[in-house]
Amino acid sequence: MPKRGHIPQRRCVGCYNSVDKGTLLRIVLHDGVLCIDESGRMAGRAAYLCRDRRCLQIAAKKRAMQRSLGVSIAAAHIDALIGSLLERCEDAGTGKEVIPDGEDQGP
Ligand SMILES: [Zn+2]
Repeated sequence: MPKRGHIPQRRCVGCYNSVDKGTLLRIVLHDGVLCIDESGRMAGRAAYLCRDRRCLQIAAKKRAMQRSLGVSIAAAHIDALIGSLLERCEDAGTGKEVIPDGEDQGP
């Protein structure tokens, strides 16, 4: 597969894989508060995570965000953020059970 050349890559703080920036969640420390940066344009220090609950959980467990952002953030704060991210990763509103790990089903 040919590379497109100029897509910036960032490393997920959970699994440490380098992935196209656009596919990662961007977490920005803004005024001392962790924000989920949907626009990708918020100023501040940023940590990146795959949109994958496993990476979120790893990051929470390892305190990877604190490490990446270089600040101490209350664990409860991280847990709250991770919790809201996990909700996004699951199909909100469909009432589905957690999808078991396995193959991604293409469209
Ligand atoms: Zn990851």
